[in-house]
Amino acid sequence: MDDVATGRFAPSPTGDLHLGNLRTAVIAWLWSRHAGSRFVVRMEDLDRVTSRREHERAQLDDLAAIGLTWDGVVVRQSERFDRYTDALRELDAAGLTYPCYCTRREIAEAAAAPNAPATVGYPGTCRRLTAAALRAHERSDRPPALRLRSGAIDIEFVDAILGPVSGVADDVVLRRNDGVPAYNLAVVVDDDEQGIDIVVRGDDLAPSTLGQLRLYDALSLRRPAHAHVPLVLSPAGRRLAKRDGSVTLGERRALGDSAADVVRWALTTSGLDTDTDASTPGGLLAAAVPAFDPALVDRRALVLSEDLLRQSLRSPE
Ligand code: GLU
Repeated sequence: MDDVATGRFAPSPTGDLHLGNLRTAVIAWLWSRHAGSRFVVRMEDLDRVTSRREHERAQLDDLAAIGLTWDGVVVRQSERFDRYTDALRELDAAGLTYPCYCTRREIAEAAAAPNAPATVGYPGTCRRLTAAALRAHERSDRPPALRLRSGAIDIEFVDAILGPVSGVADDVVLRRNDGVPAYNLAVVVDDDEQGIDIVVRGDDLAPSTLGQLRLYDALSLRRPAHAHVPLVLSPAGRRLAKRDGSVTLGERRALGDSAADVVRWALTTSGLDTDTDASTPGGLLAAAVPAFDPALVDRRALVLSEDLLRQSLRSPE
């Protein structure tokens, strides 16, 4: 592991954090603290329809309750639109953007067509519009999104948990068609500006990384390292959802678990020993810092049992 590993946890304040989010946050925190580095929390509240201050408060309360500490103030993406606009201008000036008029449905259909190129992500429909087609779109009512002209460049990186990853960079959306800066742009601008060395996040975001790395290069920014944590899944192997059982800290408490019980679970499922005299969440985390090693984190998804979702973590197996 590198000596300096400023890290972050960057949730979207659109609901309560679940066990998977909490475990990823714990791993991200341990990563930075093990290296004696800074750790920040950023609220990815670009989407003003789904993001709520009450969710933000609840998420921060839960992170604090499980003993996580962060440095400096919590940055909100909704307050940083100017930065994203600046980056967009830079990419525009370099000829690296193009308007995209496709709907989600059109993209899904183009990707499913029998002769579709075998690329992940955007099939490139608007990348090569004729002047006439572009004019027709411009006359229509549909406002365009803005995409990165990635140049179909091959990107490689070594994920600190998943290992080597390579593929063609996607033409990621930079600005949504409602004018809101897109996640892929904001995450790159912010991780750079916050001095993030290691991006630890759920592995559902691993496919976005190639496009994001292309963006770092296009903006002449230093690429951070990445570590994608395998997801925590429901017994059916799907993303955790409310209906699966007791998945949030509040729901765990209602079952009789304490925050310390949840921290013990997050640590043991990350390959760490919880055999310590400490009994508070902060004490348990602090005791785990020296032994943290990303190699201990399983590369496979963590599938929860029905029992775990319905009974206290203290119940006998
Ligand atoms: N805001 C994203 C989420 O909550 C995470 C983005 C990231 O960590 O890069 O899923």
